[in-house]
Amino acid sequence: MAIVAATTAASAWIMQAIVDDVVVENDPTQVKIVAALVVLVFALKGAATYANKVILAGIGNSIVAGIQKRLYRKVLSQDMAFHQRMQAGDLVTHMSTNTAAVRRALELIVTSAGRDLLTVIALVIVMFVKDPLISLMTLVIAPIAIGGIAYLVRRVKKVARDQFGFLAAIVTGMQETGIGIRIIKAFNLEERMTARMDSSIESVEARANRMAVLDARSSPIMETLGGFAIATVILYAGWAVTANGKTPGEVIAFLTAMLLAYDPAKRLAKMAVGLRGHLVGASLLYEVLDSEPDLIERADATPLALGNGGVHFDNVTFAYGESPALNQITLDAAPKSVTALVGPSGAGKSTVVTLLERFADPQSGTITIDGMDIRDATIHSLREHIAFVSQDTFLFAGTVRENIAFGREGATGAQIEQAARDANAHEFIERMQGGYDAPVGTDGDNLSGGQRQRLAIARAMVRDAPILLLDEATSALDAQSETKVQQALERLMQGRTTIVIAHRLSTIRQADMIHVLDQGKVVQSGTHESLIREGGLYASLHALQFHDGGG
Ligand code: ADP
Repeated sequence: MAIVAATTAASAWIMQAIVDDVVVENDPTQVKIVAALVVLVFALKGAATYANKVILAGIGNSIVAGIQKRLYRKVLSQDMAFHQRMQAGDLVTHMSTNTAAVRRALELIVTSAGRDLLTVIALVIVMFVKDPLISLMTLVIAPIAIGGIAYLVRRVKKVARDQFGFLAAIVTGMQETGIGIRIIKAFNLEERMTARMDSSIESVEARANRMAVLDARSSPIMETLGGFAIATVILYAGWAVTANGKTPGEVIAFLTAMLLAYDPAKRLAKMAVGLRGHLVGASLLYEVLDSEPDLIERADATPLALGNGGVHFDNVTFAYGESPALNQITLDAAPKSVTALVGPSGAGKSTVVTLLERFADPQSGTITIDGMDIRDATIHSLREHIAFVSQDTFLFAGTVRENIAFGREGATGAQIEQAARDANAHEFIERMQGGYDAPVGTDGDNLSGGQRQRLAIARAMVRDAPILLLDEATSALDAQSETKVQQALERLMQGRTTIVIAHRLSTIRQADMIHVLDQGKVVQSGTHESLIREGGLYASLHALQFHDGGG
């Protein structure tokens, strides 16, 4: 950049020799020397510009890649509260638009500060050497230009901030459409979705136009001021050559330096406006990069010391917002036995699972596994000892084999197949085209509900964790699928401490202990028989809610 700046200044400097030696004197040797110099200066400028661009692009690319990697790690390390706050669209926009904004901001700063600022300085030096007095006169316009640009910069900031919100809404809308396309079509929601999307797109369009106007407004300011500056010099030049004894070459060199300085000076003004817009994206991104999760591991956390895997909730209170989801709850899950949680929707059953996995920490009370407070254990070791089978059987984009292997790092082919057999999944996997290497989509639409559940069970099988958390599906499968899933679950539960959010009568009947939850409290505990005899909430739930296979 310094070379580019120096060669630009040199090309102005050389104008004096061109006019005085070539045009006025017309000395043949001088003509050749000046011509050779011109070639040299421009070749050097070309080479320097090339190197400048390549190096800068490399740095920019590595900055973008570095930020994207950091952002992904940050997103994964965040707690549930963060993910509830952030929509997927926000994250995608950070990953794409805002990392690009950081890059453009840096490039702007580097090229402007490096090339344009150096160039302007070098040219101003040429101007001062050629004629200090008139240089001072032309520089008077600088404060006026700076004032005008500062005003534009302030306006840009707000527009850029709004634009981010609408961009994120577009991404979220696209994502929803991909996932919910069946519902959209089935409910004839095309028009409403289109209206929503159109409004977001048009908002972004309006903001983009607004940005363009603000950006372009630096041009009239700079052009007009530039015109005044040049006019001043021309008036002066007419007088200086005749009255002040300057050579035409000196005047031309001065004018060239000023005209050459004019372009980078304009770019500097534009940079200030453009930079503000990019910095808004960058600062939103850094809010995420610098955010710390509320839930953090203790510095002195040790791996979970596991015995039989007995779980104990002692006086635990937890609230997502104002009203507690769990209210001073105390319950046990005995080692290697099945503990069922039942209760009306919203009673707090899922929250028990959330706290045990440490997706969130309780506001008061303690949760222990084999006597150890789970907050004293490393989060990784805690989750390593827990297998979680949720209602929404999430499958990753990949093969059947990969999806089962996600259960445990380094699972062998034999272990994967055994897990699939135990989960009653081997048979249907074999029938799939490609078998274990058959692809399943993120929404696994080539699999039935029961098959997806059995794959999820196989994943938990291969994990082989001593503690099992099970969120039973509420929707009934067909009788045959139901039996197969039920068999698979029974095998999975064997020899593990199981906490199951139960909806199936068969699971509940077999549970060693049932806790009935209502409004964040345990209202009844016992076995199925004892609770039926007791009457109360359990008996009415039994009559209304629990179902058995076959729907
Ligand atoms: P259950 O699993 O028994 O249906 P939950 O544990 O999901 O009950 O919910 C218990 C209470 O906490 C409910 O009142 C529910 O509205 C509230 N709740 C659950 N999840 C959230 C959340 N992510 N944010 C705010 N409130 C929540």
